[in-house]
Amino acid sequence: MIKSRAIVLHRFPYSDSSWIVKALTEECGIVSFIVKGGKRKESPFKGALDPLSLSEIVFRQNPGTELQFPKEAGVIDWHPHLRENLLSLAKAQVMAEIVMRYAPAGVPLEGEFALLENALREFDTADNSPEQDSPSISPEQNAAPSVPAGNTSGIFAQWLLDICDLWGYNLDTGTCSRCNHPLDGPAADFHPESGNFVCKKCLGVETPRAKPETLLGFWNLRNGGTIEHPEYVENALLAYLRNHVGFMREIHSLKFLNETRKLFSNNSAG
Ligand SMILES: [Zn+2]
Repeated sequence: MIKSRAIVLHRFPYSDSSWIVKALTEECGIVSFIVKGGKRKESPFKGALDPLSLSEIVFRQNPGTELQFPKEAGVIDWHPHLRENLLSLAKAQVMAEIVMRYAPAGVPLEGEFALLENALREFDTADNSPEQDSPSISPEQNAAPSVPAGNTSGIFAQWLLDICDLWGYNLDTGTCSRCNHPLDGPAADFHPESGNFVCKKCLGVETPRAKPETLLGFWNLRNGGTIEHPEYVENALLAYLRNHVGFMREIHSLKFLNETRKLFSNNSAG
């Protein structure tokens, strides 16, 4: 019998009453569960097997079958605030799908678990910053997130950068790839095929291929600043990852993210 923390990556209907749930477990990597009767209102698992929940699952691992039966499952963190923000939710779904499709199968994935757990918590707490005039929260209660409260702009990009690193495609965002000098400002160009940054001096009179928003986004990501248009740096990192993982498989939730981004940019434009 195994008891493990797990993050639910995906859930799809199996029959009239059952789900198949794919979860990233802390102990055993990605495990597929069949949840009989999971759709019923009185399911004992409640929100524990909802996508993006952080839960504790007890199951017996039967190596002879693809699908495991959860014996018990309880929610540790349902991430309610993340779910209230459509853009955070869309980004979290893309992260979950990337892990589900591209993380190695059949091996423990402690690094992937830690990165996803951290990013989901940051999304959840960043939108939950206390009001200015509300009573102050003691430092113990307000466990310091690594991103300033309210600043969700770099969470997805940082996660992509960390996943690239974890999977062996480290991206050096602080150095010019031509002269090897540290960048002292936003790079003058970026090539998503190679992951190379080029400084102003080395670029010379060449026309940069990367957009200024992308280059400024990388700079702010590195320096912990707010990224005004995070979709540029996120897309650049997705392109880089796609080139290196060599994946042709489509990330379905990217479509939803792109629709959501449009919705938000239209709103902010007036
Ligand atoms: Zn240079």
